[in-house]
Amino acid sequence: CGIVGYVGAKSALEVVLEGLRRLEYRGYDSAGVAVVTAGPDTAHGLIIAKKAGKIANLDKELAARPLPPSTTGIGHTRWATHGPPNDRNAHPHSNNAGRVAVVHNGIIENFALLRAELEARGNELSSDTDTEVVAHLLGELLPEADGDLAEAMRRVCRRLEGAFTLVAVHADAPDVVVGARRNSPLVVGVGEGENFLASDVSAFITHTRDAIELGQDQVVELRREGVTVTNFDGTPAETTPFHVDWDISA
Ligand code: GLU
Repeated sequence: CGIVGYVGAKSALEVVLEGLRRLEYRGYDSAGVAVVTAGPDTAHGLIIAKKAGKIANLDKELAARPLPPSTTGIGHTRWATHGPPNDRNAHPHSNNAGRVAVVHNGIIENFALLRAELEARGNELSSDTDTEVVAHLLGELLPEADGDLAEAMRRVCRRLEGAFTLVAVHADAPDVVVGARRNSPLVVGVGEGENFLASDVSAFITHTRDAIELGQDQVVELRREGVTVTNFDGTPAETTPFHVDWDISA
């Protein structure tokens, strides 16, 4: 339902939670976040926190189990289509190695086929969602894509049918957030030394008013210092930059 992604110098958790609150008006049944963290030896990890119910439930969870500081993160408010609203089905979803986190708006029509293929290859799926297949596929394809998360996302998207906005982070691709869209909106917020992704500009408007509307079947790679947009086949994409000149009342 609502999606936010951030990479920059600020606390990713704070930016993402603020963005999710600005999208609350859309209605939702669960909320969750994922951040990429650096360890003492610069090994990178990934932490997910998610809860059924209002963002206030997630706040309680985060107060009980605080996340380490991070400047790369994603968040989601869910409007369930596949599987009941519970903690397990809340987004982000991960793979068995726990190295990837994916949030999704929309419906992946061919998820049952993809799920059967993943299970045949030994993946264990832990939710009822159509979304979770994307997390496992990204985990499988990242090494084949030489660690390039945007390329892994393009390869996954070429296999998907339906309507989707997808945003993902991977512990092995730190300081990168990728997004993709087909028949469902995704907007980039362009900042200085920081960039944003959201299903709606209101999520990042307090940080930047410079935005790029992603086109149909496009993938975006977000880093602190820039944004790269391609089509699902990897060719550079035409983008539509715009300036948000209206005000929000919240
Ligand atoms: N189909 C996904 C699910 O049921 C995403 C729902 C949404 O758009 O929030 O989890």
